[in-house]
Formats: sequence, C-alpha cells, structure tokens
Amino acid sequence: MADLKLITPIEYLKGVGPQKGEVLRKELQIFTLGDLLQHYPFRYIDRTQFHKIGQLTSELPAAQILGRLVQLKESGEKRSKRLIGVFKDDTGSMELVWFQSISWVRKGLKVGSPYIIYGKPTVFNGIFSITHPEMELYQPQAKKTGNLSLQPVYSSTEKLKKFNLDSKGIQRLQQAALAACFSSLEEPLPDYILRDFGLMGFADALLNVHFPQTAKLAHAARQRLKFEELFFIQLRLLRNKQLNTQKYAGHRLRHVGEKFNDFYHNRLPFPLTNAQKRVIREIRSDCNTGAQMNRLVQGDVGSGKTVVALMSMLLAIDNGYQACMMAPTEILASQHYQSVAELLGENRCRIQLLTGSTSSKERKLIHAALENGTLDILIGTHALIEDKVKFKNIGLVVIDEQHRFGVEQRAKLWRKNAIPPHMLVMTATPIPRTLAMTMYGDLDISLIDELPAGRKPIKTVHFFENQRLRVFGFMREEIAKGRQIYIVYPLIKESEKMDLLHLEAGLESLAQEFPLPQYKISIVHGQMPVKDKDFEMQRFIKGETQIMVATTVIEVGVNVPNASVMIIENAERFGLSQLHQLRGRVGRGAEQSYCILISGNKLSKDGRTRLETMVRTHDGFEIAEVDLQLRGPGDLSGTQQSGILDMKIADLARDQQLLAQAREQVIAVFHEDPNLEMEKNRPLARFLENQGGPVISWDKIS
Ligand code: ADP
Ligand code: MG
Repeated sequence: MADLKLITPIEYLKGVGPQKGEVLRKELQIFTLGDLLQHYPFRYIDRTQFHKIGQLTSELPAAQILGRLVQLKESGEKRSKRLIGVFKDDTGSMELVWFQSISWVRKGLKVGSPYIIYGKPTVFNGIFSITHPEMELYQPQAKKTGNLSLQPVYSSTEKLKKFNLDSKGIQRLQQAALAACFSSLEEPLPDYILRDFGLMGFADALLNVHFPQTAKLAHAARQRLKFEELFFIQLRLLRNKQLNTQKYAGHRLRHVGEKFNDFYHNRLPFPLTNAQKRVIREIRSDCNTGAQMNRLVQGDVGSGKTVVALMSMLLAIDNGYQACMMAPTEILASQHYQSVAELLGENRCRIQLLTGSTSSKERKLIHAALENGTLDILIGTHALIEDKVKFKNIGLVVIDEQHRFGVEQRAKLWRKNAIPPHMLVMTATPIPRTLAMTMYGDLDISLIDELPAGRKPIKTVHFFENQRLRVFGFMREEIAKGRQIYIVYPLIKESEKMDLLHLEAGLESLAQEFPLPQYKISIVHGQMPVKDKDFEMQRFIKGETQIMVATTVIEVGVNVPNASVMIIENAERFGLSQLHQLRGRVGRGAEQSYCILISGNKLSKDGRTRLETMVRTHDGFEIAEVDLQLRGPGDLSGTQQSGILDMKIADLARDQQLLAQAREQVIAVFHEDPNLEMEKNRPLARFLENQGGPVISWDKIS
C-alpha cells in the first residue's frame, strides 16, 4: 500500500536513524517519509548562470560565483566577532562574512579550494561582500555524470547542519525517500481533473519538484502540487460547510413584518445602496432555509454595515425572536446603541445597552427583561456572553469586528439557545478574495462593495516631519471652519513607554500651537482607565474639544461625522490596514475630509510603498491586496490564528488564479456529486475519510 510507505516514520529511512530522526522532527516537523517529500525546495540554483566578481553590482538580488577561497581570518571581539573569507576569481576579489556559528563554519571550509557560492552581494568602500553565503565545493567531474542543471535548495537549520543535514544532505534523503516510495505512490487527484487542468501526475511531480531536469518541468511540478494543496483545502472547507448546513437546524425567519416594514418605509433616512440591498436579500434568503446561517459581511469602513445589521435584527424580531449585537469595545458598543436607537426612532422595538459599566441594578433589570422576552435587541460588549445573560429566544447574533473576539467568546454566544441563532459576522478589515476564500471558505460571504452615494473622497497627502508647520496652519483653518481633528500616534506593544513619550512630546508642542482657551484638546490612550477614556471620547463626540490626540484605540468604528481631518504621526510605522482603518474615521459627514500622513525623512522601501498606496487609492480591497503582497498572508490582521494559511507550497499572494480554479472545481464536484459517490470521485471520498476532523474548527465563527 502506497499510503503505508508515506506514513513510515522518518527514522526508518536509509541514512536517518534515531538521532537524525529526532532532529528532523524537532527542527522541521518532519515525522514521516511523506512529510519529508513535502519539504519542498524553496529555490533552485541554476547551474548555467554564473557571475564574475568583476561584473557584480549592488542591485543584483543574488549572484552565483565560481571562485577560490584564498584566505580565512577572524576579526573583532566577542559579540562583534566575525569570520571573513577572501574569495577570488579571474576578474577580482571579494569578501565572505559570517557572524554566527563561526568556529563551526570555519571547520567546514577548505582554504585554497574552489567553491560555488551564492548570495546577495553588497558593496562597502568599493569591496563586494556576501554575508552568510551558501557554499558548495566545486567538483568539476560531477558535471559529466549528468549532474542536474537545476540544483534544489532546501531550508535547513544550524542544528540540522551539524548532523550533515544541510541542503545537500536533505537532497540525499529526498533521493532515498523517492527510491523507497516511488513505485507505489498513488495519485490523490481524480484522472478527469488531471486531464481537464493538464496537470502532471503525482509521482512525476514529486520527482520533478526535487530533481528537475529543466526549469519547465520544475514549474509544471510545482503548479501541480500547488493545485493539489489548494484543492484539498477547499475540498475540506466546502465539505464542512455542507455538513454544517445539514447538521444544524436554524430558526426559519419566514416573513417580513411590521417592524421591518415600518423601519424601511418610515424611518430609513436614506435610500439603501444596491450593495446593501443585495446583502439584506442574501441574509433574508439564508434565514429561511431551515438551516442555521453563518454569514460574514465584509464591507469597507463607511459602507453602511450597521443598517444592514439592524434590518437583519428587525427581521428576527418580526418572526418572534430576540437579537443581539456584540462589539469589541465599550466606545463602539455605545455608539452602536446610539445610532441604532436613533435610526429606530419611534419604531416600537425595545432595545438596551449592556457593557462592563452598566450598574448592577440596571443589569438585573436587563437580565429579567431578556428572560421574559420584553427586550427585543441587546447591544453590548463581552458582557453579553456572561453566563448570567439568558435570552428567552435568541434568533440572530451580530458580531461586529469579529477578529477582535476569541474563538471561545464567539462559541459561547452560539450556545445561548437550544437551536443556535443565526450568526452574522461583520468585518471592516477588507481581506483579499484569496484569503477570504481560504480563511472563511466554509462561511457564506456577503460583500458591501459600494459606498453610499455623495460621499466626497477623502483627500490624502503625505508630509515629512519638517513640514509640520504647514500642517499646523491647515489645522487652524479647519478648526476655524468648525471642524474637528484627530491626531494619532503609533503604539507598539514592546515600547509602550516610548510611544507614550512620543505622544506626550507631541502634545506639548500642540498645546503651544493651540493654546487654551481658544482650543481644547482631548487625549485618549491605551493606558488610561476606561472611564477616563469614555469621558474624553464623549467630550470630542459632543464637540466640546476640537482636537483628539490618541493612540490607535480609536481605530475601530468610532463615528464623529464632524471630524474631518485625520493626522497620522509616524505613519510609516503603521501597517496598511491600520492606516486604512484610521482614515475611515473621517469622511463621514458632508464636508470635504483630509488624511495627512506624517513620516520621518528616511523611509524603507515597504514604508514608502505603504504611504504611496494610501495616497493613491481608497479602495480597501485594493489596499488589502497590496498588504498581502508586502507581508504575505500570515501577517495580515485577523489572520494570525488561522493555521490553515500555513501552506507547504502554494502562496496565497502569488497563486490567486490557481486557488480560484481549485475552488471552482471543488464546487463543481459537489454540485455534480454531493456525497462523492461516483466512481470517478473515489479518490476524493477516500481523502475525506482519511482526513477525519474538519479543517478548521467550526467554533471559529460561532
Ligand atoms: P460601517 O460599515 O463602517 O460600520 P456605518 O454603518 O457606521 O459604516 O455607516 C457609516 C455612515 O453612513 C453612517 O453615518 C450611516 O448612517 C451612513 N449610511 C449608511 N448607509 C447609507 C446609505 N445607503 N446612504 C447614505 N448614508 C448611509
Ligand atoms: Mg461599523
């Protein structure tokens, strides 16, 4: 049996044994032959492309050079100690530099021998050098015995290298593993899918990913393995989704009733955008299937998610259920409460706010009203999930800014009823499509991809620190027009004290430029007690202060329509999605709004790209896409907890098209053969049987 070979523990492979087995498990999480074969090369050295030392430029991303190591010397003391090698070819001389594992590196090198080296050349005082180069003894005779022109390079660690498991050593193991398994490898993808997509077979792909004869074959092998990886992730996700709809009954919200209609016809102060209408339709039809809804609503800041949430809650109420809405902070919860109460006006819904600062007397009344059904809508913070909060009949739960909540917190809401309530999760952090398809591939996704009409685009500009006086002048003009202004300072956990100093220094110069009594300033930062924060926020919301100086605590959801200027200090230190969220705090009223990004004079390449992107576009999805390209999927906000993004070969930033194809194919498979009973889909049915548990815990959303 092929599968048995692949699950053979790694120490039984020829050339491994217990000791190396232990290191492979610890360092690379390689437990079996299959794991080893999935430790793919991250690069290939092209043995046909060499540089001469005399032709090096510092723009080269990397260079491969054939030369001779003529000298090794150590310089510096203790922590600044380093090993320097002098490396020569017939056009010149350069340096190789090591800062780490010096004695070990030194032991492995032979002065006077020819080497092929590889790395990024940099230049200092006219001398080129490569730090920690990849090195390999040059063996001219190896070429004649049909050496590969593409040499795979595997990631390894210092520890593995001590066991002779550098890239070369791993390559030897790959050869042994392939020899052991090759003849019995079974194709995991159905034939017809291979045919339709023109994919290389599994065994060939493994061979060519590790030992490619040509670049073309390496590419074809990688494409196939990427497709397979993405395909099976989607297969599990969509299978989950299918099972969940079958497993969990949901309340049927059949009809649109008095409260919904009253709101829609008599209260709604603006026409809904087409996107809002579409999403409400999607929610309505979802809530009437007899299955529980699990829907993610993605909409950029200001796209009008609140009203969509409200109308969904009214739908639940019209059908005899209660609804609740949970927000991550007290400020947000009370803003939601206020705007929902305002929108509802004379509509006869009974609504309440429950947060950490609700008095215990009030709290008791709310608990009682929830249980006897005299309360329709409860809005609040984490306080909603306390065990004491019991609903008579909760039909719909809305979670705002879902990524701020932990898994367990969401799960608790889900369990507040025998029949789980419909779940509507809203996020204002746009996620690129590829990420959404993977992270939330088992949810239904609605997009509000349209801003309400008549919004003036926010003017965004980038200034350097030394242009601050101009910014002060502009601030005075805006305040004179009656506008309000945010100034945000970065807050990075490791140096909270430093950042506070920043904020305080900024505040001091502000206080001089904008003196009392003419100007009033609110301050909000993360280290203040909640009460003080709220107090300061409220002063700003009521227009008693003109300037709000804050750290990023105001990032999420705060709505002050009269605030028309967002100034971000040290803007280069913020991530793109954070900048976008912050900018979304302005542009909420009728006036022209501005976002001013202030940065230091020295910018990194990524920092520059981020600021340029902000100036160029307002489209949250476009911004998220740039963010994905810059940082990779694992670092985007909201994705940290998603182990599903740890892929072996596919890359969500680069392989978007493959992902879309894989997902479409899986959808087509389930459409034609929902239970995977057809003969041609047997490999897929078997895969799911062997996989057992779901790819992501269902609790992720609930
Ligand atoms: P977000 O999606 O960021 O939560 P909100 O729901 O807070 O956005 O809406 C932002 C602002 O836009 C609010 O003042 C809201 O009343 C207003 N708004 C929402 N939908 C519309 C619409 N269709 N037309 C005009 N204004 C709208
Ligand atoms: Mg909102």
